[in-house]
Amino acid sequence: MSPQTPPLSRRLDGLQSSAIRDLLKLTARPDIISLAGGLPDEQFMPRDAIARAAESALADRTRLQYTESAGWGPLREVLAVRESKQLGRAVPMQEVFVTHGSQQALSLLGDVLLDPGALVVVEDPAYVGALQVFRAAGARIVAVPLDAEGMRIDALEELLARGERPALVHTVANFHNPRGVTLSPARRRALAALAERYGFWVVEDDPYGELWFDRPSPQSVASYSPNVIRLSSASKVLAPTLRVGWMIAPDVVCRSVELLKQGADLCGSALTQQIAADLLADEDWLGAHLDKVRGIYSERATALVSAVRTRFGDRVVSTDAAGGMFTWVDFTDGTDTADLLPRAVEHGVAYVPGSAFAVSQSYRNSMRLCFTTSEAATLEEAVDRLARAAAAG
Ligand code: PMP
Repeated sequence: MSPQTPPLSRRLDGLQSSAIRDLLKLTARPDIISLAGGLPDEQFMPRDAIARAAESALADRTRLQYTESAGWGPLREVLAVRESKQLGRAVPMQEVFVTHGSQQALSLLGDVLLDPGALVVVEDPAYVGALQVFRAAGARIVAVPLDAEGMRIDALEELLARGERPALVHTVANFHNPRGVTLSPARRRALAALAERYGFWVVEDDPYGELWFDRPSPQSVASYSPNVIRLSSASKVLAPTLRVGWMIAPDVVCRSVELLKQGADLCGSALTQQIAADLLADEDWLGAHLDKVRGIYSERATALVSAVRTRFGDRVVSTDAAGGMFTWVDFTDGTDTADLLPRAVEHGVAYVPGSAFAVSQSYRNSMRLCFTTSEAATLEEAVDRLARAAAAG
């Protein structure tokens, strides 16, 4: 008798590995300038400060222990103070929940807030990591387009007027991944008002809000309504390896997330949570660190966007990067970015085609370019290579 292979769960049906992950493997070659990855630059991650904080954390052996599922208490206190400033109200500690990066918060919220078949509204194009969560939760996903002011709230209103009732609306309100745009203050207010009127959750996914260039990000969407769950992260501000993210949510959501977190991983790392607490609490140090990172990313963003405009002229429309890590380029001459990619890789440059982020539109003429990990001159060389690849088509 031939051995029978046991089945996997039906939840996995239709799930695919992220196109970006697969692509990243391909572009690790040293001769390729990758604008694909979407990583912060490790050159500017505060290694020495992390080392000092780790040393001092390890002076206390209890940091080697398990910690609370909701996060190490002193970190939650530090975050409560920071987020109280963000939200313009006193955030109590029981509304602060620490997760293994903000990605885990998304994943746990997918389980806590969504029944199979629940309607989730996402932005089009969308953050792929959120799509993976919502697909795994068996949600029905409907997309709302973005424009220069972020999510088109009029399109969301139309959907609601048609009788659609979302359980959750996901938004990357600051420096959208992949689109680069920021939700305007008026739309933030309108989104929060709709959430209260129709009784849905908004997940404000905000890993990039601190990476503004010329002016601070607008007031958090969560400052307008308790129906908005705010996610943030130390990944872009300090370092992704800490795997420290956090959620600000009503107590009832935090307690439900806590039950699931116990099943997922018991708790996060007290060691990296103390490192994050030390660095996030030191306002002077953090201010100087962020100033430096903002200055460098801003210079790189300007170099990349102006190289794209110089090289491609009116064949493209690209977003002005006002912060974050990405610019989005739309080709107006019909260039198919998925077709162009293998030629671009041959010419030594990589990017992510728009189709990787597409939900209902195709974005075949678009691409996401990440400006954080290369110096200005390298970014210019990358755009030269891209132009040569496009010309060779
Ligand atoms: N949300 C968005 C929009 C992201 O772009 C990312 C990572 N690139 C995350 C969440 C997850 O980040 P982390 O888990 O490192 O906090």
